[in-house]
Amino acid sequence: MWKKVCKALLVLVIANAAAAGLSYLMNKERWEAEYAAFCPTAAPILLYHGVGEEPPYKGKPWPKSLLLPADLFEEQLRYLQEEGWQLLTVAELCHRLEEGDDVKKCAALSFDDGYKNNYSVVLPLLQKYGAKATFFVVNKCIGDPIHMNDEEIKALLAAGMELGTHTYSHDPLAKIEAKYLTWETATSRYWLKKRFDGYLVRSLSYPNGSYNEEVLKVVHRWGFSRAVTGHLGVNTKASYEEAPLELYRVVIRDDGEGLEGFKKRLQRAYLAGFLQTKGLDINPLRELFE
Ligand SMILES: [Zn+2]
Repeated sequence: MWKKVCKALLVLVIANAAAAGLSYLMNKERWEAEYAAFCPTAAPILLYHGVGEEPPYKGKPWPKSLLLPADLFEEQLRYLQEEGWQLLTVAELCHRLEEGDDVKKCAALSFDDGYKNNYSVVLPLLQKYGAKATFFVVNKCIGDPIHMNDEEIKALLAAGMELGTHTYSHDPLAKIEAKYLTWETATSRYWLKKRFDGYLVRSLSYPNGSYNEEVLKVVHRWGFSRAVTGHLGVNTKASYEEAPLELYRVVIRDDGEGLEGFKKRLQRAYLAGFLQTKGLDINPLRELFE
């Protein structure tokens, strides 16, 4: 009796495993095809901070997460250019998504914090490779020893780059009192407008990627067109239209793997974006991918 039951169970287990294997193989092909179709419809926004060698800040060396060697940055630009990518500002990319234009091999470059090397190191390299970028500056920091001053920011604007706000004082928006949110967002934009000859900032980057429902409401109320987060993924017309104030980005840092590390980061972003279309958000597990 038990022998028969065991045999039946064994047959059942084998049959199940075979069915699962078959379904996996069938779905694998389908998923691969869907992934291949997804990639040309999605575009990454790369997130950088400082680039190049800088003297220590406040007596300490820069954290690796905030400073990318200039030769590695140039290698990335050269690679993207050779592979036929178009490198845009965040505004330009969003415009394309909005219009339903082709975003195959389009990426936006973004730089948070407004470090001085964004002017001295990044701008010449962008110009060398015909690339555009958005620079998110912090009002309070403009002109201090390690951040860009007015003239340097004006030079970026004259070169066709986009200026965005990284808020007035770089406080994490989800953690401050709601009464300060207007100051950090709308007042930041107002002073940037005064400072930079009427330039109207339309893009915002959340300091430390920190935001919540209340923050979204305020950013929307003050008419920002788009905002970038620290969530890993890529942007499609659908994701952009659903949440223009929660755009995905890809953190670019020096992980010691050179260009290969950069390519892996891009691939992970596309994969994360694809899984999001399947209702799987990998962002809670993001640390595993960093
Ligand atoms: Zn920042």
